[in-house]
Amino acid sequence: MKEFKIAVIAGDGIGVDITEQALKVMEKISAKYDTKLHFTKVLAGGCAIDEFGTPLPVETLEECKKSDAVLLGAVGGPKWDVLPGEGRPEKALLGLRGGLGLYANLRPAQVYDVLKAASPLKDAIINEGVDLLVVRELTGGIYFGERGRDEDGSSAYDTERYSVHEIKRIAHVAFKAAMLRKKKVTSVDKANILESSRLWREVVEGVAKEYPQVELSHLYVDNTAMQLVRKPSQFDVILTSNMFGDILSDEASMITGSIGMLASASVREDSFGMYEPIHGSAPDIAGKDLANPLAQILSSAMLFEYSLNMPQAARDIESAVEAVLNKGYRTGDIFTEGMKRVGTKEMGELVLAQI
Ligand code: NAD
Repeated sequence: MKEFKIAVIAGDGIGVDITEQALKVMEKISAKYDTKLHFTKVLAGGCAIDEFGTPLPVETLEECKKSDAVLLGAVGGPKWDVLPGEGRPEKALLGLRGGLGLYANLRPAQVYDVLKAASPLKDAIINEGVDLLVVRELTGGIYFGERGRDEDGSSAYDTERYSVHEIKRIAHVAFKAAMLRKKKVTSVDKANILESSRLWREVVEGVAKEYPQVELSHLYVDNTAMQLVRKPSQFDVILTSNMFGDILSDEASMITGSIGMLASASVREDSFGMYEPIHGSAPDIAGKDLANPLAQILSSAMLFEYSLNMPQAARDIESAVEAVLNKGYRTGDIFTEGMKRVGTKEMGELVLAQI
């Protein structure tokens, strides 16, 4: 029997509600494949501030380092919004990404046929399909660059800096992913203005030579923002920097119309990774049995695939989710007329029953 250690950070708000459902699914699927998962629950975010006075306790980071993968719910909420920058719950996310060396963020955005009506785009556009993957650099660029304020407080600055090494390794992730998909990479930058983008483009061109079957194109970030709503079907893998990726991956997820359905993975060279839904802690619906647990359940599918090398288990979870949707069950966020409305727990049970 294979055994794996999974660190579980449910976090705040609906992070707790949805993680409970995902863990049940993970237990059932691992039993099916004769695998034992050892879950260790640890704190990060607002709940860690309340308990330990810091958003990312050392013990949490250490436990994650000892594990094969991390499943994360979401962090943050109005209770902690008054805190200054360094002490905020979201700091835990940067600390985890940086501390665990997770430099690549993978965010698939796809539209399920039965959920097309939920997309804010016109039918003619959405009917062409959306199935893209945003590969975002996660531990460099302006979010980690030098920042500060002048002494008199009259100005502030943040620095975008990328090394050849950082660009190369994230470009390889994108090209490798493209090889398993439609073999198209769109590298997104602002090379008409930014020097760091010009280096980005040069390095990506170099890496592309190692993947002759993959078609590479370059787009400016402003044009990409437009193209995503004009014709999202043109994209396969979008490769981009930390800040551009942050914005574009939210836009890409929005066009699918279902924030509660989208998963993400943050990975590095080895099989270790951290898996989380793309949405936040949704304090407005926390603890009310209203949250859609499917993004977290689909994040656990990515965990099986990338960190545990169990792609068939991942496919089983994805098929179970699709089957439940095909039967017409919907949480409030994806509910449309004529469908069957269910809560967080019932949605989790329905997926379990499909496995
Ligand atoms: P949010 O994603 O939490 O919520 C946006 C809207 O989407 C809300 O109306 C919410 O009810 C709805 N929603 C989100 N997930 C849902 C789900 N699974 N099912 C049903 N509805 C869902 O974004 P926000 O309101 O901007 O942020 C709330 C808090 O979450 C803030 O404190 C923010 O800092 C934090 N946040 C955390 C993360 C993270 O942990 N990775 C990401 C984004 C925001």
